[in-house]
Amino acid sequence: MSSTLETLRLDFGGDIIEASAAQYESARRSVLHSGSPAYVLRPTSAEDVQTGVRFTAGAGLSLSVRGGGHSFAGFGTNDGGVVIDLSRLANVQIIDKERHLVRIGGGATWGQVAAALAPHGLAISSGDTKSVGVGGLTLTGGIGWQVRKYGLALDNVVAADVVTANGEILRASAADNPELFWAIRGGGGNFGIVTAFDFRAHPTTDVFFGKVAFPASEAATVLQGWADYLRTAPDELTSTVAFANPFAGGPEAPVEIYIAFDGDDPQLAARAIDPIRRLGTVTDDDVALKPYADTLEDGAIPPPGIQFVPRSAFVDRRSVPEVLRILAEIRASQRSPFIVVRSVGGAVSRVPADATAYAHRQAELMVVTTIAGPQPVVEAARPGLDAILERLAPHVNGAYANFLGSATAEDVAAIYPAQTYQRLATVKRRYDPGNLFAGNHNVRPW
Ligand SMILES: Cc1cc2nc3c(=O)[nH]c(=O)nc-3n(C[C@H](O)[C@H](O)[C@H](O)COP(=O)(O)OP(=O)(O)OC[C@H]3O[C@@H](n4cnc5c(N)ncnc54)[C@H](O)[C@@H]3O)c2cc1C
Repeated sequence: MSSTLETLRLDFGGDIIEASAAQYESARRSVLHSGSPAYVLRPTSAEDVQTGVRFTAGAGLSLSVRGGGHSFAGFGTNDGGVVIDLSRLANVQIIDKERHLVRIGGGATWGQVAAALAPHGLAISSGDTKSVGVGGLTLTGGIGWQVRKYGLALDNVVAADVVTANGEILRASAADNPELFWAIRGGGGNFGIVTAFDFRAHPTTDVFFGKVAFPASEAATVLQGWADYLRTAPDELTSTVAFANPFAGGPEAPVEIYIAFDGDDPQLAARAIDPIRRLGTVTDDDVALKPYADTLEDGAIPPPGIQFVPRSAFVDRRSVPEVLRILAEIRASQRSPFIVVRSVGGAVSRVPADATAYAHRQAELMVVTTIAGPQPVVEAARPGLDAILERLAPHVNGAYANFLGSATAEDVAAIYPAQTYQRLATVKRRYDPGNLFAGNHNVRPW
């Protein structure tokens, strides 16, 4: 191993951070998890990534890849292994002005992307938070504020440069290594390290954004009305509803409908948003015109020791009324988790099912339930959450990998239906037969 380490020190152009280094304390942790890796490598080029991958494989160490570091399941760090932290690969460059093609480093955050594209009147539908990484969010989905108009973040990827397990750099696109291209759009970090993504961005003006709030007592009718309306609403309207927020009163917390209308015409916006305002007694309405980049939140870093445990599931059209009825009931109890329901129809459902490895195209809604707090609080809340999930189970399906706080075999089966998993495993056998990239919702090569 020492000769391999010598080669690393010689060839690696970025930072090699070991336990003795001053930066180690911050480098060893991702946003939501702490670890004690032997080495944190911060590459500055694709070649550095190749060197880091070859070192890790040669040394037989476990590998974690870190983009923006926001994985709820803690994929961005480990104990005793190597972390390849891509944060210095964060360049955002417009490579084709006419076609709005943008090359983005594999370690960029969505805040960096939004800020770089805003002066060009462009945006990429991503998520709701600036500090979330392009890599983690995109490789398994990407449900953002333009999702109903432009689809998932991964639907807008046209090519990627991938360092595979043997340290090779491969281009993945419809023309080059198409099966790898299929797999990285939904299959997470299983197939290699993406050093650069080529995205199709979209012209974006200022947008109408904000929340319309209703009293908790009107939850049942507001939720049903919201879901019904979204079936006929224009794709320019993307919306999410949040309720039972423990920091805003739990069972008494208002039902908050967040709205992003992609366009700056006040009349069109009012026509799209007013049906939501008519769903009940509006207690707050702060929808206003703002630059798209300002719709993204900064993203707070919780103090060490605070755990976030999200679970997610999808809802098909026929189950929407029953799921919303159950959620409205649950939110009234003291034991309710924080509940967020996101709209995912529109453009997401118009992409053919086998075009990417994201397997939940037909869902109308995605439900995320989150419990948070110090470990004893989370453990105490777990049985209540399990009971709620059991109640929902007959009416929901699958799971969204990006909103899962765990990575069990059941989780993997929920993310990837059998057919998708088999196809991913075939790609895995080809590009990562030794399962070097195992710190993820793992697709096994064997
Ligand atoms: C505050 C917050 C808000 C969020 N909001 C949204 C939202 O609005 N919409 C949404 O869809 N999701 C959202 N998420 C979920 C988010 O998409 C996931 O947590 C995602 O994994 C974060 O990506 P990351 O790069 O920051 O994470 P990391 O922990 O850095 O990465 C997670 C894993 O992704 C893989 N990975 C990351 N980058 C690369 C790369 N370049 N090459 C290969 N593999 C890579 C690796 O396996 C890595 O371990 C949110 C999460 C948080 C914490």
